[in-house]
Amino acid sequence: MTKKPIIGVSGCLMGHNVRFDGGHKRDRLITDVLADHMEIKTICPEMGIGLGAPRPAIRLQEVNNETRLVSSKDSNVDYTSEMVAYSKQIMSGLSHLDGFIFKKGSPSCGAYRVPVVIHTEGHRRHDGTGLFAREFMDAHPWIPVEEEGRLKDNCLRQNFLERVYALHRWQAITNPDENLAAFIEFHATHKLMLMSRNHAEYRFLGQWVAETNYATLKTRRQYYIEHFMSVMRKDVTKGRHVNVLMHIMGYLKNKLNRADKVELLNSFESFRNSHLPLSAILLLLKHHLRKYPSPYLSKQSYLAPYPQEITA
Ligand code: SF4
Repeated sequence: MTKKPIIGVSGCLMGHNVRFDGGHKRDRLITDVLADHMEIKTICPEMGIGLGAPRPAIRLQEVNNETRLVSSKDSNVDYTSEMVAYSKQIMSGLSHLDGFIFKKGSPSCGAYRVPVVIHTEGHRRHDGTGLFAREFMDAHPWIPVEEEGRLKDNCLRQNFLERVYALHRWQAITNPDENLAAFIEFHATHKLMLMSRNHAEYRFLGQWVAETNYATLKTRRQYYIEHFMSVMRKDVTKGRHVNVLMHIMGYLKNKLNRADKVELLNSFESFRNSHLPLSAILLLLKHHLRKYPSPYLSKQSYLAPYPQEITA
């Protein structure tokens, strides 16, 4: 088993001088925090297709109703085919990744709202996707992706980290096409995480796992992980977290004294009102679970979705 998750990162975010101007866009969250906990695989697709650094700038532009990757100075200089061919060529070698952090706004790497120049009208729309990022997401819809800019947001960062570490646990399953026990165990350990996203989906995936046997495991597991990761993409509201916290407390209700119960309920309320972070509540619950262990709860990744040392 690989000890650390492996994530892809746009090369310029790691401080590599691969941008069109010969510079970089080092992102300290990635280089100073995440890189201590994850194995980083850097890719610069524009260098990959042979454009050097420095190089003339390129952009997404609408040409004959198609979004093309062209030179900013001359739209007749078109790199679309090279970029698509390069991306397709390296895609199969990236399916082991547990996540990818793309550079926002890039015509090659941007995952969301990349500017597309509308040639005839002389303005931009902001709904494009970088060509390399598009190929990556199409080829691996289950692998979590984010942009460095969006990772500044606490909720988006936590959600991304939860998905990266969940996928890492999935990818660590040995002999996966025949290991029915590990498949069942994976679902069992992520029940509360799924419940925090969507109760109906949690039940649907539970049913999917229950109906899987040795003969069907190979074909059903890919559907499972794609569905699982799409559920995990959903934001978790404070209310849904409190529902799960109450569910956890239910397992402790016959063990805790009145003062402990009141303290927990007050802490849930403080979390709901943004006076306490979720991590503080989980710490308190884990303290009680150490005193009153529960085999079901102790394995729930909801209580420890990723290493605590990653400040999120
Ligand atoms: S955004 Fe992507 S293509 Fe552009 S310099 Fe960074 S890694 Fe290279």
